[in-house]
Amino acid sequence: MKRILLYTFILLTVIHFSVSAKKTVINKITDYVITVSPAKKQLQTLGWPNDIINSIAVKTSDGIVLIDTQNSPANAKLVKSAVIDYFSDSTFTYIINTHGHSAHSGGNCIFDQNRIVAHSNSADEIKNYDDLFLGQTVEYLRKKIYHNSNILDTITTEDNVSDSINEAIDMYKFYEADLINNYRVRYPDLTFEEEMTLTPGNKTIELSYMGKGHGNADILVYIKEEKTLCTGNLFHLGSYQAEEMPSFYFHRTNDIDHWIKTLTRFLENHDEVDYVISTHGKKPFSRENIVFINEYCIAVRDAVQKAKKEGTPKETIQDIDTFDELFNKYSNIVRTNNTVKEMHTRNINIIWQNID
Ligand SMILES: [Zn+2]
Repeated sequence: MKRILLYTFILLTVIHFSVSAKKTVINKITDYVITVSPAKKQLQTLGWPNDIINSIAVKTSDGIVLIDTQNSPANAKLVKSAVIDYFSDSTFTYIINTHGHSAHSGGNCIFDQNRIVAHSNSADEIKNYDDLFLGQTVEYLRKKIYHNSNILDTITTEDNVSDSINEAIDMYKFYEADLINNYRVRYPDLTFEEEMTLTPGNKTIELSYMGKGHGNADILVYIKEEKTLCTGNLFHLGSYQAEEMPSFYFHRTNDIDHWIKTLTRFLENHDEVDYVISTHGKKPFSRENIVFINEYCIAVRDAVQKAKKEGTPKETIQDIDTFDELFNKYSNIVRTNNTVKEMHTRNINIIWQNID
């Protein structure tokens, strides 16, 4: 009998761990910092390129600081309970959004007792998400599901088109479930312009505004005692093959001067950065990656300014060979493969539009 009980216990333990292992993925960065992402299957319907959305949890003597709240209340709930289990602590102090895009602020409402900290521009970004999903009605999402299902019925072959329509249907169903649970969009209640320092318990958390580029509200979050920097979506660190490039976009404002100012100031004040964590990257990067990105931004800005002044065609500096010296210097962290070449060409195009 004892033996049967023991086997049953072992079996239940195995089942318990395999079930909970499927829901979230936790990575230990330091004794007091972890990354938590909903598991791949949980995120698949939302079509994220590499199936990772890291939230970062910092254990302080006053409770937990959580950086980024996932793409939906449902996923924020998963991450919240994983963090509580991991640190055996259910007190949350600050919730920080690295910017207002949905993967970073979509689950803010799960933390209704906590202050949400973000850059002052993030409210507008969050509003976009509100307009798309949580600010809608169940009827609206059901119409979308119905409409997409009708399109699906007219497609006779199974291919990329039907796959993406199926993904869209899953996504609307996912948000429909959030609406049925009565979740509401939650905006930040503690905002800043350039810099802010938080001191929850025994930790110091420094926030710096990066300037417009990836979005309008992106910030760096530095956890001083843990020598850990969180960069949200500012750099393609580990999310594409072009792991080390800055994340600039067409049709958005890209304030490269502000980027350089913030990165230079950050690097001058911080000799020790052991870990650099991005939202969609699989592993932490190092201070040297940030040094490279800053030098790359300076080189791009200077090259564009010089070319414009001298009337040199844009195409000349879109050739990555003209940046040989820089890329050779950092060959240990950035490979000039085709993705990096394409991204460089694109970056020159974008910055060309953004500076005089
Ligand atoms: Zn974003």
